[in-house]
Amino acid sequence: MVYLDNNATTAVAPEVVEAMLPFFETHWGNPSSLHTFGNRTKRHMDTAREKVAALIGASDPSEIMFTSCGSESNNTALRGAASALRNPPHVITSQVEHSAVLAPCALLEKEGGRLTHIAVNGEGHLDLDALKAAVAEGDAPVLASFMWANNETGVVFPVAEIGELIHSAEGLFHTDAVQAVGKLPVDVQNVPVDLLSLSGHKLHAPKGIGALYVRRGTRLNPLMLGGHQERARRAGTENVPYIVGLGRACELAMQRMEEDAAREQRLRDRLEGGLLATCKGATVNGDPADRLPNTTNISFEHLEGEALLLMLDDVGICTSTGAACESGSIEASHVLKAMGLPRPLLNGSIRFSLGRYSTEEDVDYVLDQLPRIVGRLRELSPNVHD
Ligand code: PLP
Repeated sequence: MVYLDNNATTAVAPEVVEAMLPFFETHWGNPSSLHTFGNRTKRHMDTAREKVAALIGASDPSEIMFTSCGSESNNTALRGAASALRNPPHVITSQVEHSAVLAPCALLEKEGGRLTHIAVNGEGHLDLDALKAAVAEGDAPVLASFMWANNETGVVFPVAEIGELIHSAEGLFHTDAVQAVGKLPVDVQNVPVDLLSLSGHKLHAPKGIGALYVRRGTRLNPLMLGGHQERARRAGTENVPYIVGLGRACELAMQRMEEDAAREQRLRDRLEGGLLATCKGATVNGDPADRLPNTTNISFEHLEGEALLLMLDDVGICTSTGAACESGSIEASHVLKAMGLPRPLLNGSIRFSLGRYSTEEDVDYVLDQLPRIVGRLRELSPNVHD
């Protein structure tokens, strides 16, 4: 199997599994217990919190709260911050966010807030003038959410500039950094964010653990009530083994990020270059310069992404497509639609996302298989309509 879908999820690193095991077998105490057995697990949880804080440059580990996933972090940030405001907010976000941001933003609008979606251009970059205009309206407290890096195209938003704009209007700035943390340097000392989401399973920790950075002084109401855990921001006995796993994964990311990113980028560029050279009608979606080092999103003109994905799957290659067949018709990716891709390119996109364990052989295999698959699909549907 060739796994090129690391933006969907990553393999749990063996070092992470090793770090977690004692917390199932030996140190299974409740960190809220007052006895020594429970208290020992609390100390390990504190160490994990320090490691997560270190990876994103948070000066105080208490600014990190553990959650169950990136989606929960996004929901907690937006709904928790909105409910702590005195007036319903002006929620400002982009057209290309993950649904775990778009859906809570839509809910806040339903609950009486105002919602503005800022457009992107053909390269996936945010219209900063439109953002300035929205922020300047000034009729309600601004609650803004802009992703650090896009999950489909890898395009990186200028989060430092966005944060300064939001703060100039005394607004709150949340960033969904689920795809950025572990792939790019993320430092909350250099970027004025109030809230930042991350997810374990995108950086070689297990699925089911995430974190939310909450800058000291940011008011946030809990979504989950009934316990004092996580500084009373999230009730529920903590998932200690997974928290320890996330801490270890963050430690590994700190040690390996530079080397991993350089290697993934080299492999990604070889894959992309090879496919553009051998597959007629192939184009890269999103700014090729300003993007995650591991991601390439390629459209194959006139073809259907889902058909390509299934034929790649038949030969053991795992990828993603933005377009999915829903009740008989193709539903295009909201990200590529917002970028204004023409119809012949819109439905034929494949996302390749490399990871720590991707190899030269993986790239060779895709370069060997995909041009043949594209040729075969073109033979099957030579007169595909625009
Ligand atoms: N935000 C982005 C940008 C993502 O790519 C994802 C997952 O694909 C999420 C949020 C949701 O994260 P989780 O799967 O941990 O809920």
